[in-house]
Amino acid sequence: MPRNVKLVTTLIATLFSLLVSPAIAANKLKVVATFSIIGDFAKNIGGDRIALTTLVGPNGDAHVYELKPADAGAVAAASVVLVNGLQFEGFLQRLVDTNVKKASIIEVARGANVLREEGHSHGAYDPHAWHSIPNALVYVKNIADAFCNVDPSGCPSYRANAVAYSNKLKVLDQEIRSSISRIPENRRTIITSHDAFGYLAHEYGLKFLAPQGLSTEAEASAADVAALIRQVKRDKASGIFVDNIGDKRLAEQIARETGLRLGGALYSDALSDQQGPASTYIAMMRYNVMTIQQGVLGRPASAGKEAAK
Ligand SMILES: [Zn+2]
Repeated sequence: MPRNVKLVTTLIATLFSLLVSPAIAANKLKVVATFSIIGDFAKNIGGDRIALTTLVGPNGDAHVYELKPADAGAVAAASVVLVNGLQFEGFLQRLVDTNVKKASIIEVARGANVLREEGHSHGAYDPHAWHSIPNALVYVKNIADAFCNVDPSGCPSYRANAVAYSNKLKVLDQEIRSSISRIPENRRTIITSHDAFGYLAHEYGLKFLAPQGLSTEAEASAADVAALIRQVKRDKASGIFVDNIGDKRLAEQIARETGLRLGGALYSDALSDQQGPASTYIAMMRYNVMTIQQGVLGRPASAGKEAAK
């Protein structure tokens, strides 16, 4: 091929790719997820058909997050805005008040098996529903439905991804049940800094006590802490853990006053960054259960390593 013809061909190819690439990006379904765990579900179902913006990133606290001006832009441009609901996102009303298309807001916890907030009679629910894998399967279905509604041509792909991902979650569910079955019944009471693990407890047979309530917004009072310390002694709690978004000092104080060993950090309301041990939902669930086992039994448990890849 003469050199100048080759040059022209290359030039045309370059121009073509310049013209086409933004078009492909523009054709992607614009999705906003309010926090990293829902963002991970969305990635698994949407694959490269979606352009995803996650508002509250790794190790972030969605209870107290405040919307930034850039978030409002992403939300306004989105075809689908995935929120947990159950009053988890303290900024939800602000989000609704932006010029978001109302119909695009999807509460992914809808239809999940939700727990009432203990000690309250006013009908409030514990929002941390994703810590039960049967509930995570509901989240996945809701997200696939939402994507199919706005992008019917992508629906076969979303459905196939949802099935493949759900199968991985079901394997993980069995793995967690078998891991927790190795912890003796009388050693399953544990302390965490904020009360985010009610669903893990309910689904898999653990008991959690927490000085800080369901939201990180309220601080524990001295009386709350004193009552918890009495309860720790009475119920013979087996371990105490901090979580990745909460305040460590309270857990450290309780550990000192009760003689309990402080275990590792559990991931509650956010994933870790890419380098951390909980950069996906599946990694987070596996890591939490392994950390609880190690903290309670004082050794790694073999079941935690059986990976559902
Ligand atoms: Zn929380």
